Amino acid sequence: MASTVKDAILRGRKTVETVVEEGRKRVENVVEGGLNTVETVVDVGLDTVETVVVEGRKKVKTVVHHGRKTVENVLLHRSTMKAAVLHGREDIRIESVPVPKAGVGEIIVQVGAALTCGTDLKVFRRGYHARMIVPPALFGHELAGTVVEAGEGVRDFVSGDRVVALNSAPCGKCYFCWRGHENLCDDLIFNNGAYAEFIQIPARIVEKNTLKVPDNVPLEHAALTEPLACAVHGFEDSRPREGDIVAVIGGGPLGLMILHVASLAGYETIAIVKHDGQVEAARHLGATHIVQAPTIRRAIRDARAFTPGDRGVDIAIEAVGLPDTWQEAVELVRKGGTVNFFGGCAANTHVTLDTNRIHYSDITLRATFHHTPEICRKALALIAGGRFQASSFITGRAKLYELNRVFEMLMNRSREIKTAIVP
Ligand SMILES: [Zn+2]
Ligand SMILES: [Zn+2]
Repeated sequence: MASTVKDAILRGRKTVETVVEEGRKRVENVVEGGLNTVETVVDVGLDTVETVVVEGRKKVKTVVHHGRKTVENVLLHRSTMKAAVLHGREDIRIESVPVPKAGVGEIIVQVGAALTCGTDLKVFRRGYHARMIVPPALFGHELAGTVVEAGEGVRDFVSGDRVVALNSAPCGKCYFCWRGHENLCDDLIFNNGAYAEFIQIPARIVEKNTLKVPDNVPLEHAALTEPLACAVHGFEDSRPREGDIVAVIGGGPLGLMILHVASLAGYETIAIVKHDGQVEAARHLGATHIVQAPTIRRAIRDARAFTPGDRGVDIAIEAVGLPDTWQEAVELVRKGGTVNFFGGCAANTHVTLDTNRIHYSDITLRATFHHTPEICRKALALIAGGRFQASSFITGRAKLYELNRVFEMLMNRSREIKTAIVP
């Protein structure tokens, strides 16, 4: 039977759909051969078994009836999947790679939505990331999806659970973890591979940083948990106090998220952005004042003008990641104010700071990197709470094979915030 179907397809029928179109009996025949047959059907070039079953409920039942407990199982018996592989600078290839299997403590998640991220864009441009990814490697780190396999020893998740699996997890044992700085863990492990049909989640991330998504939260919103956790962390780390004026420099996805977090928390905010589209977004996300100026120096001066007596803001958060902007950010705060260098700059860059200004104006300089498990939980709660405007951050949707085009577009267009890649 297996060979019949395979032959039918190889002899010129382009897809199994054609086979299926001939009638229900035929579908039954397709699967009657047992597991091997399903594998064959899929291997012969059909993208997913979903296409086979899309023809009607009855057929799903038939597929399942023939010895497979769930459709997820059927999907898992595929031997290959499509995934984005980063090979170097501006070189992403969609390849057929083995479908991962769950080892001890691991889970396999069928990706429901993976989001593009400023970090991925940086990696796309530079071809590497010192801490997070070394090519060739599976790519993408913001995702939510459905568990399709739980490895031995996994207690908290079963097949069918909707989850958001974070991109990293701390060890919980080192000095930094012990002191509550899990973001600085000596052995922080990172996971990539969200731009794919399935992703393997390492045991430690399953244990510490995989969260169940509430029923009312769409998967693509839940996928915002990771960047939002960074934003919440950056904001809280700046130690805001009631009555503070908070300025956020940068209108990229994270700048806008920090701005939105500050505004939801009731703070007066100043958004400093570059592009027209970002002005619109900042207004929509609750900015009290918006500054758009041709140079950063001019923008800083205009922003100060929104504070009483031009004294400067209480908190300035740099979310651009350029040395020039870091330097200027120091000029934006009042005496006793706090600057948070949130935006990570390229390796081996340096800044020059006015020592007198920092010392005699009693300025606090901070920097915030990444997130902790506790903050990830807060971020998901914020998304589920309903006040956070998750849908405003997802400005486009695309298929996996369009990924290169999506990144090229993100490099050139200012209006896009995040694109949801749906495999
Ligand atoms: Zn990200
Ligand atoms: Zn640690």
